[in-house]
Amino acid sequence: MSYGILFDVSRCIGCKACMEACQQSHGQALNESENLSANNFTVVKTKNLNDTEIYYRQLCMHCEKPSCASVCPVGAFTKTPEGAVLYDAKKCIGCRYCMVACPFDVPKYEWDKSLPLVKKCDMCYHRITQGQPTACAEACPTEATVFGKRDDLIKLARERIQNEPDKYKPYIYGLTEAGGTSILVISHVDFEELGFKIKKYQQDFPQYTWQVMREIPNVVAFGGVFLYGLWWIINRRMTLQEIPLAEPKNPQKEVK
Ligand code: SF4
Ligand code: SF4
Ligand code: SF4
Repeated sequence: MSYGILFDVSRCIGCKACMEACQQSHGQALNESENLSANNFTVVKTKNLNDTEIYYRQLCMHCEKPSCASVCPVGAFTKTPEGAVLYDAKKCIGCRYCMVACPFDVPKYEWDKSLPLVKKCDMCYHRITQGQPTACAEACPTEATVFGKRDDLIKLARERIQNEPDKYKPYIYGLTEAGGTSILVISHVDFEELGFKIKKYQQDFPQYTWQVMREIPNVVAFGGVFLYGLWWIINRRMTLQEIPLAEPKNPQKEVK
């Protein structure tokens, strides 16, 4: 069963209850930043259009064909049957290809940690697999954020647009963008004015990103850099599992 989230820009009052619920649900320090980070899986942004403040959310779009998964050389990202795109820290080698490949600039890195991981929204997988809605949807007081089956959300989005055609733009963002996404957005203001790209995003990104990314490993797969990289990967994995590993003999000599 594929789930998703419908976000309705016209109903968002900018209260940030979704942000707070997300942070609480993931054990993060409460903050009101407007930028995604390793401590913010979703943010509420503000845009002033014609002297009116418009609020809109940013989070992982949970793409049907996720670029992050397609470029990851070790399969650390998975598109689950439930719709959530999940990240497996135990597999990650820290190459950060996912951050380059994501068309929505979502994955963030724990730059301040000695063993950094990639962080992003997990569609509250721990909740939705227990039959609960996502924390953000549960907290939203205006049904600007609604969790449900993707097909039902598409119907709901169409109903809202059809019931108030003078209010809404006749468009559901996420039906076709990036090959389709589990996060859907409807709006009463132009998507492009909020920074939602439409024209350039009518394609499956994985096929394009791979053409560029697949050449990269060949560049680094030589000599000491490769050997040190191999040591680093193994060491990272072992450390993540809290198993000590010896230093390589001459790491300084091998890294340029
Ligand atoms: S929005 Fe980015 S991080 Fe999220 S599933 Fe799509 S490609 Fe991956
Ligand atoms: S689905 Fe869960 S992890 Fe994603 S933004 Fe909402 S509360 Fe946060
Ligand atoms: S909780 Fe709902 S109304 Fe409040 S900022 Fe989030 S999406 Fe908007």
